[in-house]
Amino acid sequence: MSDQYTLQDPTTRYPKPDDSWKRYQEGPGVEQRQHPKPDAGETTYRGTGRLTGRKAVVTGADSGIGRAVAIAFAREGADVVLSYLPEEEADATEVVRLIEEAGRKAVAFPGDLKDEAYCELLVRRAVDELGGIDVLANVGGKQQTQESIQDISTEQFDETMKTNVYALFWTCRAALRHMGPGSTIINTSSIQAYSPSPTLIDYASTKAQINAFSKALAGSVASQGIRVNVVAPGPIWTPLQQAGGQPTEALADFGTQTPLGRPGQPAELAAAYVFLASQESSYVTGETLNVNGGMPTP
Ligand code: NAD
Ligand code: MG
Repeated sequence: MSDQYTLQDPTTRYPKPDDSWKRYQEGPGVEQRQHPKPDAGETTYRGTGRLTGRKAVVTGADSGIGRAVAIAFAREGADVVLSYLPEEEADATEVVRLIEEAGRKAVAFPGDLKDEAYCELLVRRAVDELGGIDVLANVGGKQQTQESIQDISTEQFDETMKTNVYALFWTCRAALRHMGPGSTIINTSSIQAYSPSPTLIDYASTKAQINAFSKALAGSVASQGIRVNVVAPGPIWTPLQQAGGQPTEALADFGTQTPLGRPGQPAELAAAYVFLASQESSYVTGETLNVNGGMPTP
């Protein structure tokens, strides 16, 4: 298969959805049960040493965008601590194998991002087992569609806030105790921060918070030589979508509203995180990089 350095037509590089995409699985979605299988770069991402020797923590590293980021980071030369839920062990095992095949160290550390103590321990794992932390990629997140605000339980609202916002606060705060000049944090927002869907009220609001949180934090740590940026994906084909992230019926049209006319694949996000993690982006901080198939953003 061709890699990200091969000239290709972006409108036809990956498939458009059809009725066979309309499947549902209980959350958390698992890549191994997803049809069709997403491309997280397993056979398509080629590294060129852009992150040689870096020590990275990636949340949501088992599947979807986080999986693509973990694979890319390792192939660019980084050692990686992987965060994911215990139920996702099978997906995570594959990523560990791919990182080791890239000749890098993988440290699997499952746990619940809604738990402050786990977020602290996650950073501690990098310090203990990789010898420090200089890249934090917060990719894990919760997205559960609901017809109306009446269908959003307080429990769901709380879980979405805890997973998407509190975890970010906890992991960033812990990581910054150890990070030195040149270190980078990359958080994951969404097109939902600018064009919120009526069916994603709680989720969309967390994504707007992530943008503001990251810009404020970027200003606060800039003088220490630490950069904080955001990647804002559009519709990307990941397990979360078949696990209640979208109404199942809507999956047959998923991503077709974008100017490029198709959903994105996780592998297409990886280079954005690599750029923001690497020295190539040394004058970029407080920025949001939109990877969304061409949908206009402010
Ligand atoms: P995904 O389901 O593959 O990844 C989400 C990951 O979050 C899971 O693998 C899981 O490991 C982790 N997670 C969720 N709750 C957790 C918890 N309580 N504790 C620990 N880990 C937890 O789906 P994805 O689409 O790759 O999602 C990655 C990020 O991308 C999310 O932040 C999501 O909001 C964002 N995003 C996705 C899209 C899209 O269309 N797929 C669009 C915009 C933004
Ligand atoms: Mg997963």
